[in-house]
Amino acid sequence: MSGPNTSYDPVEVAALDPAAIEAAVAAALAAADAAPDLAALKAARTAHQGDRSALALANREIGALPPSAKAEAGQRVGQARARVAQAFTARQGILEAERDERILVEEAVDVTLPTGRRPLGRRHPTELMAERIADVFVGLGWELAEGPEVEAEWFNFDALNFDADHPARQMQDTFYVEPPESGLILRTHTSPVQARALLERGVPLYIACLGRVFRTDELDATHMPAFHQVEGLAVDEGITMAHLKGTLDRLATELFGQGITTRLRPSYFPFTEPSAEMDLRCFVCRGSDSACRTCKGTGWIEWGGCGMVNENVLRACGVDPQRYSGFAFGMGIDRALMFRTGVSDMRDMIEGDVRFTAQFGMEI
Ligand SMILES: [Zn+2]
Repeated sequence: MSGPNTSYDPVEVAALDPAAIEAAVAAALAAADAAPDLAALKAARTAHQGDRSALALANREIGALPPSAKAEAGQRVGQARARVAQAFTARQGILEAERDERILVEEAVDVTLPTGRRPLGRRHPTELMAERIADVFVGLGWELAEGPEVEAEWFNFDALNFDADHPARQMQDTFYVEPPESGLILRTHTSPVQARALLERGVPLYIACLGRVFRTDELDATHMPAFHQVEGLAVDEGITMAHLKGTLDRLATELFGQGITTRLRPSYFPFTEPSAEMDLRCFVCRGSDSACRTCKGTGWIEWGGCGMVNENVLRACGVDPQRYSGFAFGMGIDRALMFRTGVSDMRDMIEGDVRFTAQFGMEI
C-alpha cells in the first residue's frame, strides 16, 4: 500500500472486514487451545501472530486508511491482536505447567531405592601391616629380599642346620611337592631367604624378607595352613646380641608405640645359637593389668623367634664365622595384625569379606 486511500470504505478492504478479523481471532484461539504441547503452540503462534498472519496483514492495512478511519480500525485490530496474544500466553502457561509437572514425575529421584553401585575394595590389612614393617627396615637402611614359595628342601632345612633326621623337619609339618625326589617343598618359614641372600649378595648383609609360608595346620581360629612371616638377617663384623635387641626394640616401638620394647627368653632353633623367643611388651596394659585380654594378664605377648646366626649356617653359605657374625629373627605378620587390631579369629583375615578389609584397610 502506498499513499492514503481517499475513497476508503472499510467494507471493501477485505483484511479489515470485522467478520474477517473475528474469524482470524476465532481461528487463532482455536489453534491455541488445540496445541498439544509447547512446540505445536510455537508453530500456531507463528501462523496466527507472525508477520504473515491475517491480523498482521490487517494491521498493516491500517496505515493506508484515511485518518478518519484509522482510529476505529486500529482499535478493532488492536483488540483482536490483544485477545489472541492473551490466549497464546494463557495456553503457554498451561503447557509449561504441564511440562514441569511431567518432568518432576519422570525425573524424580527415589533416594530410598537400592543403588547399583558396587562397594570399593580395599587393600588387605595383612599387606598393609607387611608394608609398615618393611618401611621400618627400609628406614634403617636395610634391603628387602625375596625368595620362592616353592623352595628347595636344602634351603629350607639343610642350609639352616637341620639334620636329615632332625625332629624339626617333622615338627614343622611340611607340605612336600610331588614327586618326593623333586627335593621341593612349600617353604615352612622365610628363613631360607637368609641362605639365599648370603649366597647371592655376600657380606656385610642387612636384609628383611616378608612373605607367605606354609604348614600343614588345620584352619582354625589361631592356625592357618598359609600365613605370613617377616624375616630379618644382619651379618657383619662385630655383630652382637645387643644389635639384635636394639633392632627388635626399634621395630616394636615403630609398630606399637613409644616405650613398647621386647624381651628375650632362651629357646632353641637349629639355625641360631644362642636362640631366643621374643616377647613384646603388651601395648594395651603395658604390664599393669592382670585382667588384660590382649596379654592374658602376663604383660607380654609372644611374637617370634630370634638368635645369633649359627656358625654352621654361615659356613654353609660360604661366610667365615671367625670374621663375621650375625643375628636373625622371624615373626608372624598375621599374628601381629591380630593382636594389633584385636581380631580374635584368623579365619576372618582370609575369607575375603570386603567388610573386613574395609574396616582395617583404610590405612595407607
Ligand atoms: Zn596387657
